[in-house]
Amino acid sequence: MKIAFFDTKQYDVPSFEKFGKESGVDFKFFETKLSEDTAQLANGCEGVCVFVNDSVNSAVIDRLCEMGVKIIALRCAGYNNVDVKHCFGKIHVLHVPAYSPYAVAEHTMAMLLTSIRRIHKAYDRTKDFNFSLNGLTGFELHGRTVGVVGTGRIGRVFVDICRGFGMNVIAYDKFPAEGSGIKYVTKDELFEQSDIISLHCPLNDESYHMINENSIAKMKKGVVIVNTSRGALIDAEALLDGIKERRVGAACLDVYEEEADIFFEDYSGHIVADDTLARLITMPNVLVTSHQAFLTEEALANIAETTVKNITQFFESGSCPNELCYRCGSVENCRKQRAERCF
Ligand code: NAD
Repeated sequence: MKIAFFDTKQYDVPSFEKFGKESGVDFKFFETKLSEDTAQLANGCEGVCVFVNDSVNSAVIDRLCEMGVKIIALRCAGYNNVDVKHCFGKIHVLHVPAYSPYAVAEHTMAMLLTSIRRIHKAYDRTKDFNFSLNGLTGFELHGRTVGVVGTGRIGRVFVDICRGFGMNVIAYDKFPAEGSGIKYVTKDELFEQSDIISLHCPLNDESYHMINENSIAKMKKGVVIVNTSRGALIDAEALLDGIKERRVGAACLDVYEEEADIFFEDYSGHIVADDTLARLITMPNVLVTSHQAFLTEEALANIAETTVKNITQFFESGSCPNELCYRCGSVENCRKQRAERCF
């Protein structure tokens, strides 16, 4: 079974080769991302394996189908880069719904602590034998209110971590988890009451630019915004304005709306054309990591194992429990309402 593997990074290869070999899946690794220009590389393959920044639009899907490609195996949870509705009746889309919520939730707390305790600044200083503490005053999480948007797998782990710090946790979710003991509030109440806001919901029509000029205006002065979910949950221009006007106290961003051509690559020595990202990075109270939250040994192994299992299950039985729903384009909603996928 041949699978064209797009946007390969050096850390992907060992785990996918290991699990692929054990199950008879032959991955053809390509460094390039999947796009209309590169889809041709999948010729002769039964499937493609893609990540968050591969562009799987309608033209790419049609091209893959013409070449006889049967499946799109996402090696991630999010699927906003795939035109899922266009796939209906044409090609099957499998994803990895969960691989390690701990990886992302722990990175979220790592970013938050780094930012508010100025660890990144202290690290730079002591490397240069500067032991001054001026400007490094932080604040304590204990007793602060954290607003968690999205209480699915990752959000729930993050809630538990925050409780361990003695924080007051409030949450907003389109589908609140009944019996979870989480205190749910409306989106506006969350914006108004939180000292820290952490985003853990998927990107969809409803959540697009959830953090914008209007929502920032409702927030407490000095709010810390953390996004380890998807970049376009935040209107980056509005965030930049909020920081410049001192309304937003700090931002921790593992994802960025226009990350597709920038993140995961080495642009040191280049002039980055994205002025908003460049300006955000210059801010002393903005911390950016490059979509790194998932990157743990445990998560990489789980991702490879589940992706290979999805592929073999699909080709052996014609179906796979991790196949997305095509009609509603939202696997969470569909699974809540129906027993089977709408294919
Ligand atoms: P999940 O499906 O378990 O949980 C998502 C939750 O969001 C659900 O409870 C759902 O009801 C809720 N939700 C859906 N639409 C919403 C809306 N409009 N407003 C508020 N809540 C809404 O997903 P998860 O595994 O917890 O992952 C959360 C997100 O984290 C993913 O969608 C993905 O974008 C992101 N993620 C990022 C990384 C990374 O490396 N930075 C890695 C994995 C996942």
